[in-house]
Amino acid sequence: MKHLNPSDLSSIIQEISKFGCRWLGSGGEQQTREFILSKFEDSEMDNIYLEWFPCHNYRVEEYSLEVTSPLNLSIRCEPLEYSENSDVEGELVFVGELREDLDPEFLSKLNLDLEEKICLMVSDTPAFYIPPLIEKGARGLVVATEAPDNLIRMLAAKSYPPSLEDPHKWKINIPGVSISKQDLYKILSLLSLGKVYVKLRHFGGCEITQTCNVVGVVEGHTDESIVIGAHYDSQMKTTGVWDNLTGVSILIELAKNFSKRENRKRIIFVAFGAEEIGLWGSTFFVEKHKKELKEKCRAMFCLDAVSSAFPTERSVWAKDVLRTLILEISRKHGYLITNTREPNLSYSDYYPFIVEDIPAAMIWEYPPINPYYHTEKDTARYIDANKLCEMGELHRIIIEEIDMYG
Ligand SMILES: [Zn+2]
Repeated sequence: MKHLNPSDLSSIIQEISKFGCRWLGSGGEQQTREFILSKFEDSEMDNIYLEWFPCHNYRVEEYSLEVTSPLNLSIRCEPLEYSENSDVEGELVFVGELREDLDPEFLSKLNLDLEEKICLMVSDTPAFYIPPLIEKGARGLVVATEAPDNLIRMLAAKSYPPSLEDPHKWKINIPGVSISKQDLYKILSLLSLGKVYVKLRHFGGCEITQTCNVVGVVEGHTDESIVIGAHYDSQMKTTGVWDNLTGVSILIELAKNFSKRENRKRIIFVAFGAEEIGLWGSTFFVEKHKKELKEKCRAMFCLDAVSSAFPTERSVWAKDVLRTLILEISRKHGYLITNTREPNLSYSDYYPFIVEDIPAAMIWEYPPINPYYHTEKDTARYIDANKLCEMGELHRIIIEEIDMYG
């Protein structure tokens, strides 16, 4: 029998979508937090609380990109969040396509002279490649993203680990912007003819804001635990439905489901804050509960950008016993998981758990990725509630079986 249903998931997604963007410190972020809290309260969980932590709150102010030679051309761009406030001018150098399977060490080994240059790269994960470019003397960054339809993906210049001790440090020391794929081709054709010079401007505000994780606990009969987490923030200027109202809707529905059930283990539901800027909420949660998690947590499940309307395969990011269990349980219940991956990339909230050797997993519809993520087109239009519900059911079944196990 199915326990989750597509229309409940859809209505949660629709309600939260109305709050708009959920970027750190925004009204939408706060309304979403209150919404999740009220849903946890309706579920009559045993213990519900907020865990506050400080964050560097980036606000965009001014940004522009202009080609100044061989001709004058203004290029549409978005800010590279958490990059330096300054104006720079210089020669543009194309450093290539920096994809997630490329080891950033590779850049350090290259004999690139970037002294005083502005680097142009194609990347959806630039934060990983920026440090070696800065080391080689780059003074500005232009990131072309792979988003379709002339869209520009919103991206942060920094990534995991967050600087929980001093949030002010959360930035890089050169300015950056991102551009569309179409404008990348324009610039590349100019580069094929000779040197290209650009003027780049980026200014953003910086203040410390408090944000929080919303935690709901369903007690069990033993002191072992299972953690289920989904981040509730979104990228700047987006309503992030795939990323991550899909995860939040399943989190809320699973919380409702497991609150009504007799569980052996304690089940801890966490809506993480500030994931998009480098996994702040999950890192804070692991830091705060480290001893208990290391001793008692048998599995952490990360619900992030769970399911879109695009045809995809299923993959699992997990290792050791947990991976075996997930694959066996899925197979037993007729769910196909095609690919297994090592959980060694700091892309989502499972990662701070992995770093501390706490068993954690992400079951994801990938490949391919939803091409609209971190853009204004990450809307409910590209969500298939039935497919999302299947992923919710798969998680529910796996969690139920792991609750019984061991
Ligand atoms: Zn996400």
